[in-house]
Amino acid sequence: MTAVIWFKQDLRLQDNTAVAQAWHNHERVVALVTQTEKTWQKHHWAPIKRDLYERRLNALASELAALGVPLHVINAESYCQVPACVLQFMQKQQAQQLYFNREYPLDEKRRDQAVVGWLQQHGIQSHVSDDLLLVVPERIYTGQGHYYKKFTPFYKRWLAVLAEQGVSAPQHLPAKGPPIGLPEKVTLFGDKVSSAAWRADTQAIHAAMEQYYHERLHDYAQNRDIPALNGTSALSPYIENGSLGVATLARKLAQLTPDFPDGLEPGASTWLSELAWREFYQHLMWHVPRLSQGKGFQEETDAYPWVNSEERFTAWCEGRTGFPIIDAGMRQLKATGWMHNRVRMLVASFLVKDLHLDWRLEEAYFMQNLVDGSFAANNGGWQWSAGTGTDAAPYFRVFNPERQSEKFDPAGQYIRIWVKELADVPAKHIHAPWQWLQQYARANPYPKPIVEHSQMRELFTQTFKQVKNGL
Ligand code: FAD
Repeated sequence: MTAVIWFKQDLRLQDNTAVAQAWHNHERVVALVTQTEKTWQKHHWAPIKRDLYERRLNALASELAALGVPLHVINAESYCQVPACVLQFMQKQQAQQLYFNREYPLDEKRRDQAVVGWLQQHGIQSHVSDDLLLVVPERIYTGQGHYYKKFTPFYKRWLAVLAEQGVSAPQHLPAKGPPIGLPEKVTLFGDKVSSAAWRADTQAIHAAMEQYYHERLHDYAQNRDIPALNGTSALSPYIENGSLGVATLARKLAQLTPDFPDGLEPGASTWLSELAWREFYQHLMWHVPRLSQGKGFQEETDAYPWVNSEERFTAWCEGRTGFPIIDAGMRQLKATGWMHNRVRMLVASFLVKDLHLDWRLEEAYFMQNLVDGSFAANNGGWQWSAGTGTDAAPYFRVFNPERQSEKFDPAGQYIRIWVKELADVPAKHIHAPWQWLQQYARANPYPKPIVEHSQMRELFTQTFKQVKNGL
């Protein structure tokens, strides 16, 4: 009997629960991807993310073909049409069983429930697995049966469950038949921007992971906050489109100590905690539907009187705010589709607490530009930065861009890469170069700061306090 595997954000064969189950239970397997252009647009899929997704689909199609399994990409336009399209596909393939991995944000949850319901009405069975996370939301509750609102206790519980569960062993996938001819190239709809700087084939992605584990993991704890260094894994685009599974990543860490997830040295244990942040935000999506509806976790903060300023927004997007570390980050994003985590935190805080612009606009701008755009991680990161989220940095703790720049980019190496106008400014002046430029380089086009940090901080904290107190 034929089974269909429905791929979404899990574009891989290794460590893929739905794949392993379908493979094990069925002689004939067919792979399916639903292209949902309208919903992807509504969800602000970045052209660079779409390009990487397309390249990855082609790599996956070749891998499947070598194992005798065809991959079909069908056009469903939007999530609403997915149930009917999947049903039609199943009937055409004469398949009675569908296998897929569940996703956690609201639209995806509803889409998946609708598919299961439609197929059931037509006598077709769905097998829904957990694969995107190391620990599923249902396993992490407080003693009172609530979900965790703070990361630290969540993380403690998450580690305990992980220790109990262990990490699964890799599974072998034998060929399902003789190789089939190379599939026709998959071309997705919509605008695309080259993602050539990122890898699409499995071997190259695994090589990037191995390189990170061998060369950078050990020093992760001390290097991860320095944007001029290649100190983080840069695996986020692969984790997001599922070409790297979290089980694969965890197994590599588990090989470092028999006491996993305890017993890791600082680099590895800090890195594991970042994977837990990712899971924390996915769990929140599952538990709190309003996060998927453009609302703040702290509902009262939705009343903040955000400023509507095209001028400030454009200066921020284009990296022309006059604050070098902010401008460097925004230019890195525009040029590469990726930004260092420390700088993501700084530009997000600046946008909200210095420019007083609504974090939701910029949350969308990030999604429209990031190669690793993840609804849950991005929403979590923005709400954390804006002070509207669960584990929010207190609203009165406002990053000072100049001090942060001195601390994390002391010689201005990162700034010099992205803000070419400042390449010759001495390190002492590069974090706030305006006076130096006035004196020594009058023709330099680098802009004056568009706001005064301490004034804007003051205004933000006062207003936010009133909003939180319902005044
Ligand atoms: P590493 O430091 O090597 O971390 C390993 C992995 O852990 C990452 O690849 C990612 O999957 C996960 N991770 C790390 N930090 C976080 C975090 N704070 N929250 C959630 N997951 C994390 N991450 C995304 O994957 N997609 C996004 O759209 C995204 N938007 C963000 C927006 C803002 C405003 C902020 C502050 C953070 C955002 N992050 C996002 C989190 C983080 O910045 C990136 O995951 C990280 O920079 C990716 O680089 P890396 O792979 O080298 O990470």
